[in-house]
Amino acid sequence: MKVADRVAEMQFSPIRRFNVFGFEAEAAGKTVYHLNIGQPDVETPECFMEAVKNFDKKVLAYAESGGVNELLDAMIYYMDRDFGMKYERKNIQITTGGSEALTLIFTALLNPGDEALIAEPFYTNYNTFCKQVSGKLVPLTTSAEDGYNWAKRDLIEAAITPKTKAICCLSPGNPTGRVLTMEDMRLIGDIAKEHDLWIISDEVYREFVYDGAEAHSFGQLDDIADRVVIVDSVSKRWSACGARIGAAISKNDELMQSLLKLAQGRLCCSTLDQIGAAALYRMDKSYYDAAKAEYEGRRDAAYEEISKIPGVICQKPAGAFYMTVKLPVDDVEDFLMFLLKEFDDNGETVMFAPAAGFYANKGLGQDELRIAYVLTADKMKRACELIKLGLEAYNKKIGK
Ligand SMILES: *Cc1c(COP(=O)(O)O)cnc(C)c1O
Repeated sequence: MKVADRVAEMQFSPIRRFNVFGFEAEAAGKTVYHLNIGQPDVETPECFMEAVKNFDKKVLAYAESGGVNELLDAMIYYMDRDFGMKYERKNIQITTGGSEALTLIFTALLNPGDEALIAEPFYTNYNTFCKQVSGKLVPLTTSAEDGYNWAKRDLIEAAITPKTKAICCLSPGNPTGRVLTMEDMRLIGDIAKEHDLWIISDEVYREFVYDGAEAHSFGQLDDIADRVVIVDSVSKRWSACGARIGAAISKNDELMQSLLKLAQGRLCCSTLDQIGAAALYRMDKSYYDAAKAEYEGRRDAAYEEISKIPGVICQKPAGAFYMTVKLPVDDVEDFLMFLLKEFDDNGETVMFAPAAGFYANKGLGQDELRIAYVLTADKMKRACELIKLGLEAYNKKIGK
């Protein structure tokens, strides 16, 4: 007996692969600073728990497949209030996290063999979303030196083939923190129009833009509304990853009908989590202004310390809570194993995600790593100092 080829070809998460070595280091008595996963330590707003506690139905029934009205209306309110985007209930499909939104969107848009463009390095779960429907992700390769910029007409157009169906846009991006400006979005929108492509816009970090920049959405470009589908989520914005609530949002009726058909097959999303999420979408803007200020401080602390490493290449990321860094080492995975197995400074070491796993092209990113600035600024500073001290010790060991 055999499992299906398309699943056999998939890989396990390259981020989680190193966890076992992190646990071993901890079991050996070391303190490990975890910069390897994007799980924020910021508290989930109390209104989520309150709304769940106040739920007074006697039966925890199935919700509507498209989502409960309280949540749909709260999302409509939020998108209009903060971005001037006008949506109706029929434009929104509630999903089990942004992850399910992406699974449903890829299923709805791609025939086997169809291609979707994505800038690499990229959030690795896109491999799973796409492979699941026998689609093909076509990477647009970017570089640390260039700040991972991919909003370039020649780069994008060179990758378009008759099989291309969609451009995936992750902004603010994971793992690079790259943010598309309104001009970038305009350019991508124009290319999508000229080549008749969908735009899958992953905006789960939408508000996390720094240095006084304003958050934007592909939903603000009215002339491409029929080809844009936005992925949203409560996970990162309100530090509610365990709520598992997200959405696919589009003004294309045919797409929304297709998503609904698929969604009916899995009946509905968790009723209680939708009730809690509705409260989040009605929260005052000041909540994420505070969260944003906190992350910006963490980013600055991390960037300042990382910049002290001789030979490092890193541009200050403009958004999300990740930073991809290029180090003067041949093999970042080997360096990480050294940090976990052989190195400590006063009993402390650090863990990050090697960036090679975020590239589709084999061999790229071997000298890059991603750090998630999800710890307090003081801890970020110390953790990045440990990378620097670890690198000095590592270079000594390999005789460099
Ligand atoms: C975290 C994340 C998601 C989805 O997370 P959910 O918890 O499923 O909402 C989607 N895209 C990117 C880029 C992410 O980092």
